[in-house]
Amino acid sequence: MPANILNLPQYIVTALKEDEHDYHVSADVSQQPLNCPHCHSGDIRGFGRREQLIKDLPVHGKRVGVYVDTRRYQCTSCSKTFYEELPVVDEKRKMTKRLVNWIGRQSISRTFSSLADEVGIVEGTVRSIFRDYINELEKTVRFEIPQWMGIDEIHLIKPRCVVTNIENNTIVDILRDRNKKTVIAYLSQLKGINQVNYVAMDMWSPYKDAMEIVIPHAKIVIDKFHVVRMANDALERVRKSLREKLTAKQRRGLMNDRFVLLKRERDLNDKEAFLLDGWCQNYPELGLAYRQKEAFYQIYDAQSPDQAKTLFREWYHSLSPEIRPAYSDLVRAWGNWEPYICNYFEHPVTNAYTESLNNLIRVMNRLGRGYSFEALRAKILFAEGAHKMGGQRPKFQRQQSMRMPELSRVASFEPSNEYLDVPEFLRRDCSDSDLTDSPVSTWYNKNYGVDISTLASMIEKGQL
Ligand SMILES: [Zn+2]
Repeated sequence: MPANILNLPQYIVTALKEDEHDYHVSADVSQQPLNCPHCHSGDIRGFGRREQLIKDLPVHGKRVGVYVDTRRYQCTSCSKTFYEELPVVDEKRKMTKRLVNWIGRQSISRTFSSLADEVGIVEGTVRSIFRDYINELEKTVRFEIPQWMGIDEIHLIKPRCVVTNIENNTIVDILRDRNKKTVIAYLSQLKGINQVNYVAMDMWSPYKDAMEIVIPHAKIVIDKFHVVRMANDALERVRKSLREKLTAKQRRGLMNDRFVLLKRERDLNDKEAFLLDGWCQNYPELGLAYRQKEAFYQIYDAQSPDQAKTLFREWYHSLSPEIRPAYSDLVRAWGNWEPYICNYFEHPVTNAYTESLNNLIRVMNRLGRGYSFEALRAKILFAEGAHKMGGQRPKFQRQQSMRMPELSRVASFEPSNEYLDVPEFLRRDCSDSDLTDSPVSTWYNKNYGVDISTLASMIEKGQL
């Protein structure tokens, strides 16, 4: 018989067949049971056998089926019958536990159908393993509570709420929707929620209401990005309203040059400044709108909330009547959110990840067709290698004595309780081939969440 190709000491391989797609391995359990599981009597005798087919990890690109000749016993004391237990097997799923673990890890980054095909099982089983795996990860993986929390909207099939750590540019969670109730429920279950000192968000009342209920001490800051974006929108409105007066050629030209309008004046090169000048001279309304946009951005040079308020009022009174309607959304938003917008001038933190987050979500939506929200969320939150880890590696601890224990002590050596506390799915069989890429590293003591740019580049490289 070939060596134990299963690499599972708990089994003895008795036969092996191979065809184009599959390995068929016959095996027996190496250790026979000693006691009756019902009355613990040692007086048991053989009572027939039954063959069970157990799926295992694919080998050499082939599916692996293990045919375990399972022994049945009868207890002479209580006369009950029982089958021997199959070690390292998930009996409910008829799979080795290492296969279940492997599918769980793979299901984060691969399609369920490709996994089902590779292993030789139905897609529903992959989905159910994925679900169990994610539930375990949810319990085990704890992201640090951000001191600066960001709350943004992303479009993942539908609008969702994404919670970020602004200092670390990481995602810490994605909530099903943007409702106040959902956000309250999320915040309330976080341990250490009082560590949140600031929350940067868009002007979306349910977020603000939720924050004020659960963490009233945290300062709410409307992210600068969301405010100045409205000035750009206003300018775009003016540009679009001009289109009717233009010839098709001019319209195309203005479309091509619109990036010049949206840029800050101080960032223009000579050629761009020349283009801008041309458009503004020919279309005074556009020129006016551009000046107003630039003037609005200058409010953000303010050194204090009071100065910002004053600058805003000056800006508002300088709006010319013909372009005021284009800026009405911005004016209204400022009116509704002024204290929160002005908190920025005391706590000028803004998220740096907006662009990579948008790229990320765009790709997710493209790749994610056919996936549920739960699956996409898990793919983002639990992507292996994308977590931003930190903290200190524990100090080297000198052991009491490093002399080899005597043989009698080796014999009585038991695995420590520490090991037994590790959740089942994180424990690896010694025979597992890729021991190094455990989803949770053991010595980092801080996990800040999913690094947005790392994840975006992993997706670009097709690693997710
Ligand atoms: Zn018994």
